[in-house]
Amino acid sequence: MSLESLRPASPFPDRIAEIITIGDELLSGETVDTNSSYLDGLLEQWGWIVARHATVPDEVDPIARAMRDAADRASLVVCSGGLGPTEDDRTFEALAQALGCALVLDDDVLERIRARFASFGRTMTPNNERQARLPANGQPLVNEAGTAPGFQALLGRAKIYLLPGVPREVRWLAEHALRPQLDRGGPVIHRRTLKTIGFGESRLEHVIREVRDAHVGSVEFGYRAQASETHIKLSVRPHSHNETIDPDEARSRLDRAEADLRGVLGDAVFGTDLAEISAVLGSLLDERKLTVATAESCTGGLIGAMLTEVPGSSAYYLGGCVTYSNDAKVALLGVSPRALEELGAVCEVVARQMAEGVRVRLGSDWAIATTGVAGPTGGSPEKPVGTVHVAFAGPDGTSAKVLALPGDRASIRTSTARIALDQLRQLILVSSGTSER
Ligand code: ATP
Repeated sequence: MSLESLRPASPFPDRIAEIITIGDELLSGETVDTNSSYLDGLLEQWGWIVARHATVPDEVDPIARAMRDAADRASLVVCSGGLGPTEDDRTFEALAQALGCALVLDDDVLERIRARFASFGRTMTPNNERQARLPANGQPLVNEAGTAPGFQALLGRAKIYLLPGVPREVRWLAEHALRPQLDRGGPVIHRRTLKTIGFGESRLEHVIREVRDAHVGSVEFGYRAQASETHIKLSVRPHSHNETIDPDEARSRLDRAEADLRGVLGDAVFGTDLAEISAVLGSLLDERKLTVATAESCTGGLIGAMLTEVPGSSAYYLGGCVTYSNDAKVALLGVSPRALEELGAVCEVVARQMAEGVRVRLGSDWAIATTGVAGPTGGSPEKPVGTVHVAFAGPDGTSAKVLALPGDRASIRTSTARIALDQLRQLILVSSGTSER
């Protein structure tokens, strides 16, 4: 169903929000607009339907026009950027124009800016005064994460909020100023994401088609694929603007769909929603008091980096060797020079020896090894770019897998790391799970 069908005839639908991001750097590609996606997620959780994003340059007329247009369509408009002290920060001016009011100096805000500078042992420069010249119709929002205040006003019948551009400040104001006013107690559209690794989208859709058909009219199915992760996106949404779905009802519909999917996919689902493979594997290792070590060639330490992104990973990650050259594979892991000479570094034998070598040297329960051709050069007809061998040494022996990965160097490396972590998770689940220590 499209968002259009959720829109009522009224020009002021009470759950529709729009986001405006302001800044030349967002249009030139210098800065990726992460504020919009952050605000999307938050507003959706709070019960809003984000119907449109606009990005406009640092110019008063386009900003004011975008504000007026958004306020005509939506009942909530959230803007970010252009509240700074420099000449190119024009958002307050633009809102004043849209509201048809003047900019006036707010003494309290000015005092707060001065005090902030003093707390850093600095003196305020005259251009910082710009940040205290605010539209006469509306109220400032205290921003303890930065200098510029946020701002709120009523533009026509829409609430409009101005937030700074700096993502950290956006997050602070969203939590402290927006949430108390805008959180309507839960989403309009109830969602759940089931995450798998190593399934192509089309294969996944094929495998789960019967489950999807069984839930038609109750839960909608969607898919998202990125660097070897494929997500099944489940949603329960109202069929009309006035309908609201009871959260318990939505949860039980999602629970039923999830249970049916897990029935078909089994351990292939590594988690839901915000789950990350490194944290899921980490919890499993931690629960079972198991340890892991890594021997990485083509991933160059990526697996170790992913594992150590998780707080508390020292409980189960012992360490690893990044062995990029053949000599390093021999010296640090005890890989056989003969295997390297006869078969080359990218082969199952070497991957197995790498995993076994690091497992013995670090005394871990499990070890992961990777060796492959990440490209763009170095491929051959027998071992084209994307050929990667991963091996897992564990309490019950060593296993290996060869991957043929599509994509560029970055996605081949990321895919390898994710697949390796997920394979280890699945191996631990099927193994006896008891530590030899
Ligand atoms: P400042 O007081 O720092 O000038 P500001 O409100 O004027 O804040 P901008 O000057 O527009 O904000 O942006 C400040 C910083 O935040 C810049 O580094 C900019 O690239 C970044 N930024 C701005 N908008 C976004 C956005 N939509 N997503 C991510 N980063 C952004």
